[in-house]
Amino acid sequence: MSTSPEIRSRIVWDYAPAPESPDHVRLRDSYGLFVDGDFRDPVDGTRVPTLNPATEEPVAEIAFAGPADLRRAVEAGRRAQPGWAALSGLERGKYLFRIARLIQERARELAIVESLDGGKPVRESRDVDVPLAAAHFFHYAGWADKLAYGVGGRAVEPLGVAAQIVPWNFPLLMAAWKLAPALACGNTSVLKPAETTPLTALLLAEILQEAELPPGVVSIVPGDGAAGAALVRQPDIDKVAFTGSTGVGKDIQAALAGRGVSLTLELGGKSANIVFEDAALDQAVEGIVNGIFFNQGHVCCAGSRLLIQESVADTVIGKLWERMGRLRVGDPLDKNTDVGAINSLEQLERIRSLVSAGEEEGAVRRSIACELPERGWWFAPTVFTEVAPAHRIAVEEIFGPVVSVLTFRTQAEAIEKANNSTYGLAAGIWTDKGAKAFEVASALQAGVVWQNTYNHFDPTAAFGGYKESGFGREGGPAGLRPYLRVT
Ligand code: NAD
Repeated sequence: MSTSPEIRSRIVWDYAPAPESPDHVRLRDSYGLFVDGDFRDPVDGTRVPTLNPATEEPVAEIAFAGPADLRRAVEAGRRAQPGWAALSGLERGKYLFRIARLIQERARELAIVESLDGGKPVRESRDVDVPLAAAHFFHYAGWADKLAYGVGGRAVEPLGVAAQIVPWNFPLLMAAWKLAPALACGNTSVLKPAETTPLTALLLAEILQEAELPPGVVSIVPGDGAAGAALVRQPDIDKVAFTGSTGVGKDIQAALAGRGVSLTLELGGKSANIVFEDAALDQAVEGIVNGIFFNQGHVCCAGSRLLIQESVADTVIGKLWERMGRLRVGDPLDKNTDVGAINSLEQLERIRSLVSAGEEEGAVRRSIACELPERGWWFAPTVFTEVAPAHRIAVEEIFGPVVSVLTFRTQAEAIEKANNSTYGLAAGIWTDKGAKAFEVASALQAGVVWQNTYNHFDPTAAFGGYKESGFGREGGPAGLRPYLRVT
């Protein structure tokens, strides 16, 4: 049975708007493709506007790559690769350090553009996306002259030209996750940003120019899914690194079968956030909120399946609902905003349709009542209770600000329910008992397990999936191996 949205708890005080000013941001009206060291007109591509999801207004015009453009980018990468690999690790590392420093110098601008183009709260772009992107370049700058140490002292060579495809939820950060290890290891790259969020990758292209990265070492070619599909089918690539949905990951794996092209896939998830009765419950509620409402829930490792021990379920749900009532939804450029705009109309429709499925299947929905701006794409933070493990909202990735609550009685049941998923990307464990946390973590089929925290990222730690969440690791020394031939 479903209920209508409840009125949210009364706000005790009002916040004065604290908008970040975009006045100092100098965007071009139109961006070409960044190929062989320069911005170029597309040969057989098109030009499309990129929209601000909070206003539906165009932010800039972007060139989308066609097949000939992709070929040119791969050829440029092929030409540049031997020279790049021939540099000493120390020299390659210097370029990466320079890129990291330039990201820091332009941090405020990058944060604003990330929020304008993608809809995420500027507080998150400023405090998470941009600093972590710089940290990834710093981290792999340090590895560039120590590659053999990262793989147990074995001899290493780069793979060659990498085709790298990223999604729209962390556009700059995912570009950094892909580029930094590839370049440190002596590969060149053709990076394809997602169709709805190409802008920070193009600002990164300006940074690469300023860092005087040799032409062709990185090309950045925005485009849609068809461009991604054409890129992975280019004959002269050695490596594909993909972050995105499981369906597309399977298509790429099929396209590469038998071609001797190395592949890493970072795919979707339906991660369990497990709250035991002995947890610090107020702290756990903060972690639940951060786990699912961070970046509007557009997070591959979002804690979208909340498993609460039955004895504290009512208490935790009560506290969560009370906390959700204080989330501020709205203008992504306002520094008070907790939940920004949904990235695209298409994604909003997908969230709506899965939420309707949850109601139809009998789960109880509560969405906070909040004033949403008239234009733009928005979805109020939502919690589903009375969820059965077979409900679509307990199984499928919603990729929005929607959490599904299930309960358990014993530790064994918690583990069984957490692992009852085709995915295995991440998990959270909330308990006061260290031994219990280790025992549960060891039994979970998840690439990342957080204890008493959630959505905590660090460039030194490996990230990646089990099962349909993909394979290969990004981050830390483990993130070097997918870009090296180890002999
Ligand atoms: P998506 O798979 O539709 O798109 C991802 C990227 O792939 C985009 O650049 C897109 O243009 C491109 N693409 C689309 N079709 C393609 C094809 N046939 N061949 C090659 N490239 C193609 O996914 P999305 O909707 O943009 O992103 C959301 C998904 O990404 C979610 O499932 C989420 O869990 C996943 N994701 C995973 C991680 C991770 O690290 N595991 C991180 C972020 C997002």
